[in-house]
Amino acid sequence: MLRRVTFTTLISMYRIPFDRVNWTTSAFLIGTAVIAVIGVPIYLIRVGIDAFQIAMFAFFLIATMMSITLGYHRLFSHLSFKAKKPVKLFTLVFGACAFENSCLDWVSDHRRHHKHVDHDDDPYDISKGFLWAHIGWLIFKLRPEPPMDNVNDLRKDPLVMWQHRYVHWIGLVVGIIIPTALGAAWNAWQGGNVWHGALGGFLLAGIARIVVAQHCTFFINSLCHTIGRQPYSTGHSARDSAIMAFLTFGEGYHNYHHEFQHDYRNGVKPWQWDPTKWTIWLLSKIGLVEGLRRVPEGRILLAEMREARARAERHLERLEAMPAASSAAREALANAVEKLTANYHELEKAVADRVELSRNVLRQWQHETRAIMRELQRRGDPATV
Ligand SMILES: [Zn+2]
Ligand SMILES: [Zn+2]
Repeated sequence: MLRRVTFTTLISMYRIPFDRVNWTTSAFLIGTAVIAVIGVPIYLIRVGIDAFQIAMFAFFLIATMMSITLGYHRLFSHLSFKAKKPVKLFTLVFGACAFENSCLDWVSDHRRHHKHVDHDDDPYDISKGFLWAHIGWLIFKLRPEPPMDNVNDLRKDPLVMWQHRYVHWIGLVVGIIIPTALGAAWNAWQGGNVWHGALGGFLLAGIARIVVAQHCTFFINSLCHTIGRQPYSTGHSARDSAIMAFLTFGEGYHNYHHEFQHDYRNGVKPWQWDPTKWTIWLLSKIGLVEGLRRVPEGRILLAEMREARARAERHLERLEAMPAASSAAREALANAVEKLTANYHELEKAVADRVELSRNVLRQWQHETRAIMRELQRRGDPATV
């Protein structure tokens, strides 16, 4: 017998907790995405685009993303450097334009994410699924709402509290009304259609820029806990990925970040793509920020060696349990593990005694550790691929 599928049965089938839906946030997320996906292509076909609209989109996107990564994240959440008022004001104003809540709310969620990563109290816990970590946690309200008892330091900052009070107004005026007005003004000056200019500013630097910035930020909670390598620790789900770093202004080196959250760098190697780190460094050169926190090289290498050793030992155990594995391969890996263990203990002691090791020694150990990681990757070790 066919059963009539009603709205109520659909809800119970998929167990959607409608009573927990945050309707305002959901309407904003869906509404902006629909406007961007439908409105932008129609606008581009019917009106086209000029250099001013492209420049305005690029400026607002970079300013918004940088305010989240440099401001909300590395400055306010992790206190990885100290900033003068202009930097704080800029990142708070353009951070509001991302429509990702006030800095105070964002930091509270993010500090809980680090403290309880991959567990129930982590607001964007990846173990609840990719979609939950990406966007689900924003759509469904938690009951009871967690207390904001981890941001008392920021409550003393008048600029942070000003932004907390007026965050939606700041976002609306600076993030939507200003690009709309600038689009209109540019076209009026160029003798073009004022309404076309206004609509372009609204759709591109306004709505589409919000959607792009939001999903690039949400990727840090979803994809950066899903794809990439774990060179510093497999104790949590965070991963390092150059592709994700490119999409997130450097935040994609997330495995490093979860190990050393107070370092102002996420891409700690000089060649790693981290425009946020470069901007902080440049700002320090002109005196707008100071007190940049860096984890000493020895401690970083110690984490890499600890991880390589644990993985190599696990791999060796697997080889020993396989009668078909060649004894030469077993012996080579056992020798590598032995050498790595000796280096590890020497470095551990040097770090504990705060003894400076020569750069050459560190380079040599780094080289050997990475050679083992590459060998494990070649053998298909799951955490290195
Ligand atoms: Zn994370
Ligand atoms: Zn963080």
